[in-house]
Amino acid sequence: MTASTRRPLPLALIVDDDATFRMLSRMSLEQDELLVEEALSGEAAVEFASSTMPDIIILDLQMPGMGGFAVCEHIRQLPHGRFVPILIMTGLDDVDSIAQAYEKGATDFIVKPCHGLILSQRVRYMLRAGRTMNALRAREAQLAQAQRIARLGGWEWDPSGDRMDLSEAACRTLGILPGSIDPAQFSYLACVHEGDREPVIKALQRARAEGTGVDMDHRLIPRDGAERIVRLRGETQTDNHTHARRLVGTVQDVTDERAAETKIYFLANYDSVTHLPNRTLFLHRVGQVLASGAGVPDALLVIHLDRYQRICEMHGPRCGEHLIREAAERLRQSLSSDLTVARSSGAASPTLARLSDGQFALFLTDLAAPEDSARVARNCLDALHNPFQIESTSVTLSAYIGIAIPGTDGTEAEQVLRNAGTAAQSATRTGPNRYQFYSDAMNASLAARIGLEQDLRSAIAGNQFLLHYQPKVDILSEQVIGFEALIRWQHPARGLIAPAEFIQVAEEEALIMPMTDWVIRNVARQQRIWHKSGLAPIAVSINVSGLYFRQAHLAAHLKELVFAEGGHPQDIELELTESVLMTDAESTTTILRELKESGFRLAIDDFGTGYSSLAYLQRFPIDTLKIDRAFIKDLKLGKEDSPIMRAIVGMGRALQLHLVAEGVETLDQLAFLRLQGCDTYQGYLFGKPLPAHQLQYLLQDRLSNETSRTRDRLRTRLAN
Ligand code: C2E
Ligand code: CA
Ligand code: CA
Repeated sequence: MTASTRRPLPLALIVDDDATFRMLSRMSLEQDELLVEEALSGEAAVEFASSTMPDIIILDLQMPGMGGFAVCEHIRQLPHGRFVPILIMTGLDDVDSIAQAYEKGATDFIVKPCHGLILSQRVRYMLRAGRTMNALRAREAQLAQAQRIARLGGWEWDPSGDRMDLSEAACRTLGILPGSIDPAQFSYLACVHEGDREPVIKALQRARAEGTGVDMDHRLIPRDGAERIVRLRGETQTDNHTHARRLVGTVQDVTDERAAETKIYFLANYDSVTHLPNRTLFLHRVGQVLASGAGVPDALLVIHLDRYQRICEMHGPRCGEHLIREAAERLRQSLSSDLTVARSSGAASPTLARLSDGQFALFLTDLAAPEDSARVARNCLDALHNPFQIESTSVTLSAYIGIAIPGTDGTEAEQVLRNAGTAAQSATRTGPNRYQFYSDAMNASLAARIGLEQDLRSAIAGNQFLLHYQPKVDILSEQVIGFEALIRWQHPARGLIAPAEFIQVAEEEALIMPMTDWVIRNVARQQRIWHKSGLAPIAVSINVSGLYFRQAHLAAHLKELVFAEGGHPQDIELELTESVLMTDAESTTTILRELKESGFRLAIDDFGTGYSSLAYLQRFPIDTLKIDRAFIKDLKLGKEDSPIMRAIVGMGRALQLHLVAEGVETLDQLAFLRLQGCDTYQGYLFGKPLPAHQLQYLLQDRLSNETSRTRDRLRTRLAN
């Protein structure tokens, strides 16, 4: 017996102790283009197969020595013997043996003696089936390997039986032992991160209901370890008969890909020294905001550190990195504490980026006015002004900032950035630590604004303000029942300036604080003067802005001011706009309660122009609603009805509020308001705001009315 090494043709091994039978079998197989080897005993067969595994084995059951069953068992134990087709030759009456042969690993059987043609047919069929099985097994192995490499597993969800079957690879991904889980337990969901479970369930249910698929990434906590990210994909399959739907899909561990993606994204979009966005990301973000066309003022700043290059050359690149990191940190802190930016941060926080070696860029959105960017620039310059500590020496940098305003200075991000860079360049020519707008118009308006700011500061110091009082009149009796105090600025060069021109700047520069203190003191003082001249206490209302309203211990502070002038909080009404009240409505309630407990009256100013929540209006302890002039403007008696006015008056009545109409200029308006049931009015019709000394005649009237009323009361009392 020889063992052939190269086998272009399939090799069959005939194992039989009967020489005749061996010969007959050989003849019919060789005709069929098979190579044939013979083994005379079971032992010889096992020995042969140990060195060369044939493609098929034709095995006699009964042989002296090792019998067919034992041979079968042995061969199945051999390295390549697991799948080799084994055809058992047996006598017809040997049915029990056949069953046993299958148990021992036989592939098929044939009755002996058999026709050569049947044998060769059977062998051919078995070889073909064997080849198909081998190919299938190879493909399965390949697939398993591919899945292992791709960290991919399969699953099948049958909602009708609520079964989730997981492939071996899927189990591996979930960190569970294949076969250890109960498919009915939906073990997959148990491994899904708690925060993602709901969306996963929803996606699966939606896919099933709509007959679509799922494709989502989610977090997974495998039973055996740390959080992973997997991609869950699947599609619906519908049963043709029952129309029941089930989902079949894959689950793939994409943790590493995600980490790599994140890293690549970081490298492509961020500066590795400061971890700030780089130029690419910065331009992208600016571009997005500009494209959204929100129309609110934005500003783009380029911050240039002047001596940065030289410092790097002198102290080495490591020191340069240290310096730039520190500079970035200072800028970050300055931005986070900047009032202007903080106020605007409702929408988007400012974007700080590192453009190149010694250059940063800053994008500010939702500014109240473009000029506000100048203050941010100033703060950035201040932040960079202090010396930087490099090793044992301290170095000072000069910084320059260029500012470009999108819209005015370009519509494309690139262009606005370029213009801000140009402005930064021109700032270097004006001296160290300067900022410069790109457009001259902006520089001019900024200069004007800075001028106003400075003048306003000296106005406070130099006492250049005065108060005008506008009467508030009872709509039925036409009696003056109080005044609103309105501030005026007596500018040494420009004359009398109306509050519209300076209140906002005062608010932004926090100058509103000393200014309002001044108003309150003066009102209380004036009230005392009136009182001394014999008048009954006269209510005066004072306008209170947002910044002033939000100061700590407001009620105590106001009381102190009023008492110091000998006044009474009961005679003072504080006017607050809806927007002031509705910013943080929760804390508003507390502040209002404290004011109320201190005795002050409270009014909502310009009512109807903001968006008050009715729920809060009810909760706020408010006394008065001042209906904005806009609603009064086009009221005419006999003209069509004004549903808005009726609604406001109705609401005021329901909430038991005192109603004041602002800006009443005509008799028609007055008549309408009287008809509607408004309590009080204020406006040019009765009187413009005037200095206290010009109100003497009004108060004289009131005084005589009061004296006559007192006289009447006395008379009545005497008569009784
Ligand atoms: P406001 O509180 O709504 O004050 C009413 C404004 O309407 C006043 O303008 C007043 O002169 C004007 N006005 C009154 N009646 C009529 C009228 O019949 N027709 C027209 N066209 N206007 C009328 P003013 O004095 O220029 O004040 C403007 C705003 O400045 C005030 O609006 C108030 O918001 C603010 N303001 C004035 N003084 C102060 C103050 O001391 N502190 C604060 N925080 N704001 C003040
Ligand atoms: Ca007012
Ligand atoms: Ca008003």
